[in-house]
Amino acid sequence: MSKEQEMMSSRQNAFKASDVSLCALVFLAGVAVTVLVLILFVGSEQRTVNVAFQLEVDERFSRLQRRFNTQVLKLDVVKRFFINADDVTEKEFLGFVTPLVGEDEAYSWVPRILEKDLQSFRAKALLNGTSDFSYHEINPVTGEKIPLSSRPEHWILLYLLKLDDVKIVPGMDVMARPGRQVLMSKARETHQIVVSEPLKMTNGQSGIFFVAPVFQDYLKVPSKDDGLQGFVVSTVRLASLMEQGIPSPSLQRLNVRLSLFDTQHQGETIYQSQAPAAPSELYAQRLLKVADQNYLMQFRPSSTFLVANSNVLSVSLIAVFGVGLTLLLTLMVYLLITQRARALSLVDERTQDLRLLNITDHLTGVYNRRYFEDLMERLLIEADEHDKPLSLILFDVDHFKCINDRWGHQCGDNVLKSLCARIRSATRNTDLLCRTGGEEFALICPDSESNDTSRLAEKLRVLISALPFDEAGEVTCSFGVATWVPSESFDAFIRRADTAMYSAKSSGRDQVQLANP
Ligand code: GH3
Ligand code: MG
Ligand code: MG
Repeated sequence: MSKEQEMMSSRQNAFKASDVSLCALVFLAGVAVTVLVLILFVGSEQRTVNVAFQLEVDERFSRLQRRFNTQVLKLDVVKRFFINADDVTEKEFLGFVTPLVGEDEAYSWVPRILEKDLQSFRAKALLNGTSDFSYHEINPVTGEKIPLSSRPEHWILLYLLKLDDVKIVPGMDVMARPGRQVLMSKARETHQIVVSEPLKMTNGQSGIFFVAPVFQDYLKVPSKDDGLQGFVVSTVRLASLMEQGIPSPSLQRLNVRLSLFDTQHQGETIYQSQAPAAPSELYAQRLLKVADQNYLMQFRPSSTFLVANSNVLSVSLIAVFGVGLTLLLTLMVYLLITQRARALSLVDERTQDLRLLNITDHLTGVYNRRYFEDLMERLLIEADEHDKPLSLILFDVDHFKCINDRWGHQCGDNVLKSLCARIRSATRNTDLLCRTGGEEFALICPDSESNDTSRLAEKLRVLISALPFDEAGEVTCSFGVATWVPSESFDAFIRRADTAMYSAKSSGRDQVQLANP
């Protein structure tokens, strides 16, 4: 392998190594940009989902707060009706309350009756048209109707309006029902509307009781009595309170849990929406204040909410697009690099060709005159520096003109080619054959002493003259041999060899002449 070829191949290897690292770099950069975009996107999406969740929670909470407040407000209206009207009849009660009562709601009037007034009260009620009136209470354990127990005051359910068809006979003392006593005592003491923890309603469902005390005008109140006339009570089914009027898609999106707060049962869950909570970090809680009662409302997203706000599709689209683009970019860079490497190696090859063309003779393939001069200049310096011998054989084909004339120019060319081939086959690689003119050649013999060179010249002379050339037959050459004398100039050295060759010509050709030192 020549020095030039070695250089070229090592350059190509270097390209291969840098190609791979550049492609890897482009690929990694593409992947890094994709990952960065994904991180930014996911971050911003999370913030958006968070905002959407908070909005949904705020909307739901304000709706529920309004719903509870409306319930208190409606009861307050009924209470005022009782305060301002004397002796409300059932007809008046129904007429007033009917527009207020909603689905799953009930309104009732529970007057206070002293035990001594029970008989007269029943007579008056029947007289006023209240039908099917019987004093009783409900056994809190068995739920059965039992006769009225004896106590100083009774709280008799007199009027009731509700939309479901559970029949309740007027005359029930509600004080015997669980939880009522505490609730009513509190309303009585505070003179305010009070709200119960969830209690069992007469239809068996869990509901919230809103109780408003109705007091007599204080001027008319006998001494030693607080003037409490009775209670107006509204009950609402808890689930209805939490869900009515809320669009079903919205119900599906949030998991809502209502629990008691600030009571002895603090933390007890009293309502849980149907949509189950999905595993998520999203969470919000609000304090719901209704009259004297506080509730803790906890919100979590359901799987419906998470699916509706999911960004899985966008994330996978970005990932696929990013990786695809990265691969495309890497492929393009790879193609560019390999094209460039191919172009560079082509340039190298062409440069090499041009260089060879520049220093060789196109007919015979041996070095041309210009390169002969370069070589000689270099070798003379080397011989001078390292004190090495350097010899030169100049030779010229004898009567070449005759060969041309007789066999044609093409035949002359063939002789020149064959002659060079013969000489190269018989010389060392270090001996350099050059064509210095039409049929004139020079063989530079570095590291060669005069005697060896003369012997070589003689050997070449025989090699040419002994064997005939194809068409031209016998061809001979005349040789001049010179060995460089230290400090001799290039021109002087050539001239000496040339003189020796011409001396061989004039002495009859087909011979070797040694130049005088
Ligand atoms: P001498 O023995 O004195 O050297 O005689 P000669 O005929 O060889 O010398 P001369 O200088 O008279 O003629 C050389 C001829 O070589 C003249 C030229 O046409 C011919 N010649 C030079 N270059 C080429 C070439 O490349 N091809 C061919 N076919 N002939 C060439
Ligand atoms: Mg000649
Ligand atoms: Mg000649």
